Order: sequence, then structure tokens, then C-alpha cells
Amino acid sequence: MRDFWSDVEAIVHKSGIRVPYSWQAGETASYFLTQLRDEGKIWGKRCPRCEKVLVPPRKSCPFCFVETDQWIEVSDEGMVETFTVVQRDTLIQPRKAPFAYAMIRLDGADTGLVHILGEVEPEAIREGMRVKAVLAKDRKGSLLDIAYFKPII
Ligand SMILES: [Zn+2]
Repeated sequence: MRDFWSDVEAIVHKSGIRVPYSWQAGETASYFLTQLRDEGKIWGKRCPRCEKVLVPPRKSCPFCFVETDQWIEVSDEGMVETFTVVQRDTLIQPRKAPFAYAMIRLDGADTGLVHILGEVEPEAIREGMRVKAVLAKDRKGSLLDIAYFKPII
């Protein structure tokens, strides 16, 4: 049998693919996103067993594996639990580097929401920092209807 690679130069061509897709957000995410878009409000769902308020809301509790059953409005303010600073631009990032993503625990929630921090230099970000949601002017039914979270004193 002929060894194909022994007498053929391996040419490496760098490229990329773009895969646009659509998916139905489902009942839970649709309610969350329409409330955010239309009312500017942030809602979580409470687990009937452990009573944790999950934000973003989940149809079932990831801790107890039971269906969540109660909508709870949470604050648009919360605390940075942890964060990371994006140092390099890539095609998938929503803004130019450097910027930070943070895990934000909103007041009234028991889980963290990952979102962008704005109006703050990356060097000034601290765990425990209090932040507030800044809503996008033109809301479209996406998590980016919260433009970013900004520090508050
Ligand atoms: Zn639970």
C-alpha cells in the first residue's frame, strides 16, 4: 500500500467557517428575555426544594434536578463574585479588548449571571464590587439588552 504522506507535501491552509443558526429560547428563557426587553426587569426562578433563586432562570434546578415553579423579580444591582479580563480581540467577543466579564450575583439571587463590566478600567475591578445593570437603549430580547454592569458606590 502506498504511503500517501511520504511523497506529498502537506499544505496547511488556514481558514474559518461561519455557522449562523437560530434556536427557540423556550418558555423559561423567553419569559426572562421578554420581561427584560419590554419592562427592563430581571427575573429568576425559585426551586421548590432548595429555594434557591436561579438567575438566569432555569426550567429545572441544577442542584436538585426538580422543576422550578416560581418567578421572582430580582434587583438590577448586585456584587461581582469573580471576573476575567479579555486581553485579545476575537471575532466572537461583543466589544474591543481589553474589557471584563464578571460573574454577578444580583441581590435576591442565589446564582451568578455572567455579563460584561463597563464604565470601569480593568485594573480597578475587584471581587465584591457593587454593580448595577445598564440597559441597552434599543432592546431586542437578548441578554445584551443589559448593555453592561457598571460600578456603584
Ligand atoms: Zn434546588
